[in-house]
Amino acid sequence: MERLQNLIGGHWVDASGGETFPSIDPATGEVVAEVPASSPEDVDRAVQAAREAYRSWRLFPAPRRAEILFRAAQLMAERKEELSRAMTRDMGKVLTESRGEVQEGIDMTFYMAGEGRRLAGEVVPAESPDKFAMAQRDPIGVVAAITPWNFPFSIATWKLMPALVAGNTAVFKPASDAPLLGYLLARILEEAGLPPGVLNVVFGSGEAVGDALLRHPGVDLVSFTGSNTVGRHVARTAAEQMKRYHLELGGKNAITVLDDADLDLAVQGILWSAFGTTGQRCTAGSRVIVQRGVHDELVERLKEGARKLRLGNGLDPGTEVGPLINRRAVEKVERYVRIGQEEGAVLVTGGRPVTTGELAKGFFYEPTLFDRVGPRFRIAQEEIFGPVLSIIPVDSLEEAIEVNNGVEYGLSSSIYTRDVNKAFKAIRDLATGIVYVNAGTIGAEIQLPFGGMRGTGNGHREAGRAALEVYTEWKAVYVDYSGRLQRAQIDR
Ligand code: NAP
Ligand code: MG
Repeated sequence: MERLQNLIGGHWVDASGGETFPSIDPATGEVVAEVPASSPEDVDRAVQAAREAYRSWRLFPAPRRAEILFRAAQLMAERKEELSRAMTRDMGKVLTESRGEVQEGIDMTFYMAGEGRRLAGEVVPAESPDKFAMAQRDPIGVVAAITPWNFPFSIATWKLMPALVAGNTAVFKPASDAPLLGYLLARILEEAGLPPGVLNVVFGSGEAVGDALLRHPGVDLVSFTGSNTVGRHVARTAAEQMKRYHLELGGKNAITVLDDADLDLAVQGILWSAFGTTGQRCTAGSRVIVQRGVHDELVERLKEGARKLRLGNGLDPGTEVGPLINRRAVEKVERYVRIGQEEGAVLVTGGRPVTTGELAKGFFYEPTLFDRVGPRFRIAQEEIFGPVLSIIPVDSLEEAIEVNNGVEYGLSSSIYTRDVNKAFKAIRDLATGIVYVNAGTIGAEIQLPFGGMRGTGNGHREAGRAALEVYTEWKAVYVDYSGRLQRAQIDR
């Protein structure tokens, strides 16, 4: 078992009140780590440390900040297996997926290390003679990074790496259900040479630590990934203080399968998107919108596929589907399965938690398939965040797009078709931040923007160069070397 500590101003310390809480392995119920249960007082110290460090970090040349990130990425790569196993134990993800997530964190860190020698601005012609006009990126200040448990490593790198390379300092609050990877990441950045106070980590509940970060006047930007409920609270609290904020929230992602689709491919993509990470991805495919010509065959094959999936501990090589994160998540899935039945959807397979054998110690739930789901049913509208897939039959591509867009979220969508014209119409009309053609709804790469339209966020994006828009501000600079008064727009 690991004993985690907060990182404040370069010191590893317990919570000021000395209290801790356990992090549990959701496959076995074993305690993986003891974690500081911090208070607003700890948050205050961490923000002070970040403010102090900002004074020199913003002046430290970006290419040299990048060298620290580069070393951190190398350390991550050396420790990939250790990090992956720790992740599976802390939050249940199947080991192959944990390895994928660590790789994503490595990719993001190398990518942002590259930005240390770019961080490009703009130089444009000035309208007056003997005048120079350019725009440069400035850091914003102290960034609070608040992250969810389902991607405990990669999402932390999505936020921290662009923030740090651009010259901000940070206070990071990892999710309470999966704190271990945040701790290991901070250790790596420290070992890579990050100066004290540039990154601070405070563990503890959303109410005590997260909320104190939102309200702290020393925080300039809140970068939040999590549920819509908490996201709204972040937006309101930040707005009151005129703080910048960045929201990445939930999804209700759909996979459209047209009559002309390659069904073998579609079945694989759907099972992977719906039941990978036990459906606990913001991009999980939780709706299948299927054209009636292939409906019966698709349902039959999905049923067969879902029944074959092997549930188990993510550390066992044969496991395809791991546990849900905690008891509350199992109860939430059970609630939605009841709702689906009451709404009149047809339960095709699954629909029960695992209550016998070795798996009864963990939070396992059978891969579940509902057919004949109406697009307005609650199971087709609300984020369940578990292994529950709803099949919605439609007549045409146009109807499929309407159903796809008829939810409050707009994160990811996918379409299976062999018709290039239909594929391009879908790309044009699907109102989501990510669109896949002939692939499921999961599997984003870090060099493109990641995030959602409409209710999934507030228009910002993580990853890619787009991330820099969140963590920097534009400063327009005019240098007049004419030696006389020149009046823009007037002297012409
Ligand atoms: P959550 O309950 O909203 O928690 C997210 C983070 O916010 C956690 O660190 C949590 O702390 C903290 N928090 C809770 N209450 C807070 C408060 N009052 N003030 C400040 N912070 C507070 O979400 P989750 O259950 O961890 O994650 C699942 C959700 O995240 C899903 O909706 C999923 O779709 C979304 N998600 C979105 C993306 C994306 O990029 N769009 C990616 C992954 C996940 P505690 O852990 O201590 O409660
Ligand atoms: Mg845990």
